Amino acid sequence: MINRKQYCVANLKMNLSGIQIMDYISELDNLFDKSNNNKVNTIICPSVTSLSIFFDYIRDNNYCLGAQNIHHKEYGAYTGETSINMISDFINFVILGHSERRQYFNETNEIINKKIIKVSQHSLNSIVCIGETLDQRKNDEVKKTLKNQLSACLQNVKSEVIIAYEPIWAIGTGETATSKIIVEAHQIIRKILNDIGFDGQKISILYGGSVNRNNAKELIALDDVDGFLIGGASLDVDHFYDIYKFIEESF
Ligand code: PEP
Repeated sequence: MINRKQYCVANLKMNLSGIQIMDYISELDNLFDKSNNNKVNTIICPSVTSLSIFFDYIRDNNYCLGAQNIHHKEYGAYTGETSINMISDFINFVILGHSERRQYFNETNEIINKKIIKVSQHSLNSIVCIGETLDQRKNDEVKKTLKNQLSACLQNVKSEVIIAYEPIWAIGTGETATSKIIVEAHQIIRKILNDIGFDGQKISILYGGSVNRNNAKELIALDDVDGFLIGGASLDVDHFYDIYKFIEESF
């Protein structure tokens, strides 16, 4: 059995004010203390404005930071955007290709590919989100969709990436994919990764889509699930920590 890295990733999305984030950090610091010898790679992805607050306030803890997005250029006249260059001192990871970015900001696989390459040029890691819509699932297009997304997003990518399988119909809806759906999708993803020149067995694949403390134990026990990308439940530190514990106990 290959020992892949396990991850517990919080996607805080566009939530928490500056004051709220300070409370969040102190709760997190108490739970994820270095002395706990945490085994799971825990990554907190706050808003870009909160990244520097995290950087100023965190103690010697056992989690690292990620961004929720970057622009694919290093600098320039792109009002309102953030480049990797501006935040690379704060972070180790970037979530890319999230379905909300695809849906509301028209991000294409080609743009996501440019962003992944930009992240790797800074020796950082991308968490690449892929997943099908409900219509694509109903029309038996899951495999085709995942293949299109992976082959376009990972074109000319030579660095290590983390994949997050996030069926769009399960994100923020309270509807979790069944174990069968998740196992099938993760196996399809590993096969596609092999077909496009990666070692699918070595790449960590996370599941995302309404993960919470009630379903995390069952989901992390599934073969091929190497952790979670968590939206809603990550806004409550205790809830997030409970999910983290299930991953840790699954070793
Ligand atoms: C996400 O935003 O990636 C996500 C999985 O959200 P939620 O956990 O709220 O479904």
